Amino acid sequence: MSMMYEGNGIVSKTSRLYQAGERVAVLLPLALPGAYDYRVPADLQIEDGAFVEVPLGSRRLLGAVWGPGEGDVDEGRLREILGRCDAPPLQPTARRFVDWVAAYTVQPRGAVLRMIMSVPEALRPARTVPVYALPDRPCGGASEMPTPRPHRPTAARSRVLAVLADGRARTAAELTDEAGVSSGVVGSMAAAGLIAKAARCETAREDPLGVLPPGPVLSVEQAQAADRLRAALAEGFSVTLVDGVPGSGKTEVYFEAIAAALAAGGQVLVLLPEIALGAQWLARFRARFGADPHAWHSELGRAERRRTWRRVAEGSARVVVGARSALFLPFARLSLIVIDEEHDASYKQEDGVPYNARDMAVVRARLGNIPVCLVSATPSLETVVNVRAGRYGSVLLPARHGGRAMPAVELIDLRRDRPSRGAWLAPSTRAAIGANLDEGAQALLFLNRRGYAPLTLCRACGHRLACAWCSAWLVEHRLAGRMLCHHCGHAAPLVNTCPACGAAETLAACGPGVERLAEEVAGTFPDARVCLATSDTLPGPAATAELVRRMEAREIDIVIGTQIIAKGYHFPHLTLVVVVDADLGLAGGDLRAGERTFQLLYQAAGRAGRGDRPGRALVQTTMPHHPAMTALASGARDRFLAAEEAGRREAEMPPYGRLAALIVSGADPVAVEAAASALADSAPNGDGVRVFGPAPAPLALLRGRHRRRLLLHAGRAVAVPPLVRRWLAATRMPGGVRVQVDIDPYSFL
Ligand code: ADP
Ligand code: ZN
Repeated sequence: MSMMYEGNGIVSKTSRLYQAGERVAVLLPLALPGAYDYRVPADLQIEDGAFVEVPLGSRRLLGAVWGPGEGDVDEGRLREILGRCDAPPLQPTARRFVDWVAAYTVQPRGAVLRMIMSVPEALRPARTVPVYALPDRPCGGASEMPTPRPHRPTAARSRVLAVLADGRARTAAELTDEAGVSSGVVGSMAAAGLIAKAARCETAREDPLGVLPPGPVLSVEQAQAADRLRAALAEGFSVTLVDGVPGSGKTEVYFEAIAAALAAGGQVLVLLPEIALGAQWLARFRARFGADPHAWHSELGRAERRRTWRRVAEGSARVVVGARSALFLPFARLSLIVIDEEHDASYKQEDGVPYNARDMAVVRARLGNIPVCLVSATPSLETVVNVRAGRYGSVLLPARHGGRAMPAVELIDLRRDRPSRGAWLAPSTRAAIGANLDEGAQALLFLNRRGYAPLTLCRACGHRLACAWCSAWLVEHRLAGRMLCHHCGHAAPLVNTCPACGAAETLAACGPGVERLAEEVAGTFPDARVCLATSDTLPGPAATAELVRRMEAREIDIVIGTQIIAKGYHFPHLTLVVVVDADLGLAGGDLRAGERTFQLLYQAAGRAGRGDRPGRALVQTTMPHHPAMTALASGARDRFLAAEEAGRREAEMPPYGRLAALIVSGADPVAVEAAASALADSAPNGDGVRVFGPAPAPLALLRGRHRRRLLLHAGRAVAVPPLVRRWLAATRMPGGVRVQVDIDPYSFL
């Protein structure tokens, strides 16, 4: 991990209460560098972290009190806070976290606060919902109860009374659902005074996670690992890697830590790389803890987002499972963070405030003095190096649960075992799929390419269909009937004639996408039931849950999918995994290409043989001697990591050195080039720091903006963020040109 950076000048603040007339600093969720001073009005209680409404110019904005005023506004121009939101104040840890992340990522503090204040509606008072209870147990609020009239007992009414007998108030919807009655029954019972109607704050109820059923009996290794994680809960900040092959029970083990954290009254955050991955996870969680956690991801509706944010702030939401943005929820008493698949690249946010949620979670844990648990079968090199240096602890689960073997991985050398023209599966791969089908087992064909073909070319003139706004080819999506740019989302209709030379019927699809592969499979195995699994066919959790159900019910023989399906799932009848193009991720000069390819393919292979029958993985490659491939085939993960590590150490690349990327972009290529050169001229070279570039970015045009990159490389001891901040402050950017800073970049496009 690369955040040993300490020189961020953050003063530790404890919450204090302000007097009327005092100045306070209010941070606004805007891309502004600092907070503004406001005066505390007479009739409001204002403390640090309080969410307040303030005037800015002619606007009224919500912001958070960030400490005593900084004095940079004249007394005469000082304006008053307009009001205070009825929401719990932001905890000191969360405020320090905002300051830290802003300093480290070289972004305005307000831009980071905006990630926390992602649901402004949640700052308004919570709505109340009517609830019903037995008349002798009024439950909050004023109950409106007519005098009971003689009770006419019906089966439906009795069921309602039976449901309410536990003393818990319920909404009409909950009651009709649980008692199996119509809403008319509930209404008539309330009118008759048989049940009492009251108002309940919709967020008031704590999650019913109190009584936990015991988990499975753990193996000796699992029990030791769980003990370690549980012990860490009482010891403040620590980082522990849970390292174990897929299916070794890592999830069971960290569930034990979650159970202990809940028993101690804390809140728990679990980060998952893609929430689609969560369908099976949620079912397991429910089975273990008897209730749903709160999900946090981009698909959530506004109302749910608002409710969850509010409950997290109030502390009544106990477990949140989410994508990286869940790290910026306003936890009231967070006591454990779990990061499943910690190596996953989707923890890195590329736009807005670029940050790595795994690294920032470690920072969040350190500021809050709580443990964090990193989980992976293929830990990142950064994490492995931290373990070896003793900065992180680790627990190891060396074997699959139940004595199951890891799948045998065989490399298919595509140079010898050649697919026929226009096909992508090698003869031996086809034979293996056929044999697997004959045995009635399931296969997964993994190809990390959405759509039908990644490139469309005119056979007459050689023209390639490209996006007008990006330096990227348009990808044919035959099922959706359009061409798509995977970088900006630009869509164009499918065409028959070449837009360059006008020739008809000359456009040819080049290379395979999953849709084209599905065509080949349908032609080869006409009786197989095939299903596509990509972000196009699985747009949300519901569609994913349905796919999981169909897989478990054996309604699918062959699933063809992108990485969306290659990670995390447990399909008991899946015995064969085929990696159709293992070389895909190795092209280009990415620092982590080998590491990532290994991680992704290892995960994909690990989907095979998780049930009773042993699994097999076939990896199609033209580079069978690449270290990532030989490591996959031999299972020598640690040897592979050691080789990667040696290479990085030698080149002083992360985690043995530090990188920061500057991406200069704008609509006018001349202005962009001039600005990039100006940045290069004022670059902080020397003292272990070198700046490379500017060079046109591989994606030289993105969304209509021209892009040039500079890359700063520094030794491990260098505090890069303040260096970059000073560098930027010293260089004036012309209007229309933007510089995006990316500390610890993962993408070099
Ligand atoms: P991982 O997270 O390492 O991939 P899981 O926790 O998902 O592993 O475990 C794989 C499978 O084995 C799951 O179905 C899980 O319920 C089961 N399993 C793991 N440990 C145990 C155990 N001690 N007792 C019963 N089942 C277990
Ligand atoms: Zn585009």
